[in-house]
Amino acid sequence: MAGQEGSPADRPARVTGDEARRIKREDLGIPGRSKHEKRAAVPVKGRTKAAGTRERTYRFRFHPSPGQADQLVRTFGACRWVYNRGLDLRREGWERHRVSIGYAETCRALTGWRRAEETSWLREVSSTVLQQSLRHLDGAFKRFSREGITDAGWGALLRRLAYKAEWYGRTLVVVDPRYPSTRICSRCQSVEGPTDLSVRVWTCASCGATHDRDGNAAVNLREEGLRLYRLVVGADPGERVAPPLIRAVDLATYGQAV
Ligand SMILES: [Zn+2]
Repeated sequence: MAGQEGSPADRPARVTGDEARRIKREDLGIPGRSKHEKRAAVPVKGRTKAAGTRERTYRFRFHPSPGQADQLVRTFGACRWVYNRGLDLRREGWERHRVSIGYAETCRALTGWRRAEETSWLREVSSTVLQQSLRHLDGAFKRFSREGITDAGWGALLRRLAYKAEWYGRTLVVVDPRYPSTRICSRCQSVEGPTDLSVRVWTCASCGATHDRDGNAAVNLREEGLRLYRLVVGADPGERVAPPLIRAVDLATYGQAV
């Protein structure tokens, strides 16, 4: 991209109007307006307690059947994919074409992804749930300037996950932010994947395995998470009590002990 179109400073601040609509349709592949025409993301409202009321909490444990567990994994995977794909689209729109992509447009793009044959697996997950991912993405864009978006958005997500893990008696493992999950080959462990995040599929130069960027990263993150978990909790069940949160950045002291 660099050199081809000049530095961002050479380009107009923002492309709008008919030209922006053409870029979105032809270059970014966002389907035209239909039922999402006037849709804007409605922020998720916090509940306000009426005066004099007391909050009461209940705790349940969900034991999913194998079929339900399968559906959950599929749903989380699809949410992550849609969030990342929406993020790519919004970034690409701005960095390459100087057009702003809003929530409604990412929803229309989602409709297109669900229709496309190669991403037809998205149809197995409720579109409402997937739109929720795009809403979170939109919130992250609105709250923070371009530079801190991903970090800040994930920071809020991490706090929620940590809270939920504690609530359900589970452990959330946060790997080191520098852990190169997208660059490690999940088959042979060599660190040769592309640094360019726009590359979605790559082939490992060492073992020849072809990887989907996000799928490969997910496998690596699971392995790294399990490694850190065993480091803290021990390899045998019941050896040590699992804490609700394990953060790689806090583990320097543990590292010595194991
Ligand atoms: Zn490899």
